[in-house]
Amino acid sequence: MADTALTFPVVTETAEHARLRVEVRSFLAETLPPDFRPGLGMAGGWSPEFSSRLAKRGWVGMSIPRRYGGAEMDTVTRVVVTEELLAAGAPVAAHWVAERQSAPSILHFGSDAQRDRFLPGIAAGELFFSIGMSEPEAGSDLASVRTSALQVDGGWSVTGRKIWTTHAHHNHFFAVLCRTAPAADGDKHSGLSQLIVDLSAPGVSVHPIKLLNNSHDFNEVVLDDVFVPDEMVLGTLGSGWHQVTSELVLERGGPDRLLSTFPLLVHYLKERPAGRDAVHETVGRLVARLAAIRQIYLSVAAMVDLGTAAPVAAAVGKDLGTLYEQEIVSALTELDELDPDPNAVSTYEQLLAEAIVMAPSFTIRGGTTEVLRIVTARALRSA
Ligand SMILES: Cc1cc2nc3c(=O)[nH]c(=O)nc-3n(C[C@H](O)[C@H](O)[C@H](O)COP(=O)(O)OP(=O)(O)OC[C@H]3O[C@@H](n4cnc5c(N)ncnc54)[C@H](O)[C@@H]3O)c2cc1C
Repeated sequence: MADTALTFPVVTETAEHARLRVEVRSFLAETLPPDFRPGLGMAGGWSPEFSSRLAKRGWVGMSIPRRYGGAEMDTVTRVVVTEELLAAGAPVAAHWVAERQSAPSILHFGSDAQRDRFLPGIAAGELFFSIGMSEPEAGSDLASVRTSALQVDGGWSVTGRKIWTTHAHHNHFFAVLCRTAPAADGDKHSGLSQLIVDLSAPGVSVHPIKLLNNSHDFNEVVLDDVFVPDEMVLGTLGSGWHQVTSELVLERGGPDRLLSTFPLLVHYLKERPAGRDAVHETVGRLVARLAAIRQIYLSVAAMVDLGTAAPVAAAVGKDLGTLYEQEIVSALTELDELDPDPNAVSTYEQLLAEAIVMAPSFTIRGGTTEVLRIVTARALRSA
């Protein structure tokens, strides 16, 4: 059943969840060095060493069945672990996409051979994926992708350009949304497929796109006649649109769309003078909103566990969650007159400088606020 009526099942944390939360906090206290500087969201924190240590505790590939080396957790329990990692600003970027969406997608749509090949490496925190959706002329209008795959002997020859491909310069594979057949009349969502492409394959070139602060997360990936064997078609040919829509629920509907700037709030409270009415009022408001919005992604997690499609609930969650991530930055900036300085001694001031640069991207990545509202409005109209 689709979530067009926008009902949000209420989720209550259990004693087991509370125990797990404490366990993750202890692991982080033992594992992160004393001078660890938290990251915001996944920015900067690409650390295969950390991913591997986390995996040894069963906290990578959490939704992967045990027979593939995963922890076989339900999605709500997985949220407990990811909340703790994000709240601490842990360096989770390397495994994040593989853990969040590539593994569930391969598990759900992939062949047995693909599950055998990819899931154990993802669960071990050793195999990393990027997202191969956006193109220069196809971001919000994703179904207009021009990257195309032509059938050749034993596979496909893929040619096109992907953009904003986060961490493609480090990662091993990405699932490329491309056209494998012409669109049927009036339906551009048809004829699309997902192919798993090795980012080190001949014909793949990765070009950095640096941010204003010179940091490098993004890339443009050019695919020039790249051979992809038939075995690397993910799911069913022509079902690419349905598959990426399912993937987007996982990309949009989780704590990483609410907690990107939470470490900034934590460090504000650690470092800045408290005891002021304005601070009490601002922090009280921010914490109350956080408690309300996190119920949405707990509901999305519960719906995923029930096998219910939740694209609209995930869109509502991302809309509210990413505006909240920006609100933390603007609300804290208003409390004090500080010049943002990435080289400041204070961790709070460093994070503030970083957050100001990053904040505009929160409401763009994974689908812009305007597009999410179109998704929600259409669902409400047809409910
Ligand atoms: C930090 C970050 C990381 C990213 N990582 C990845 C990645 O790893 N892999 C990947 O594939 N993509 C990635 N993206 C790309 C992201 O998904 C796209 O930027 C996003 O979908 C928007 O597409 P666009 O940039 O082409 O903007 P456009 O689609 O050109 O939109 C421009 C503006 O027009 C508005 N707009 C567009 N259509 C409509 C409409 N119908 N009605 C009203 N307003 C509209 C939008 O809201 C936006 O404000 C990333 C983006 C960011 C910011």
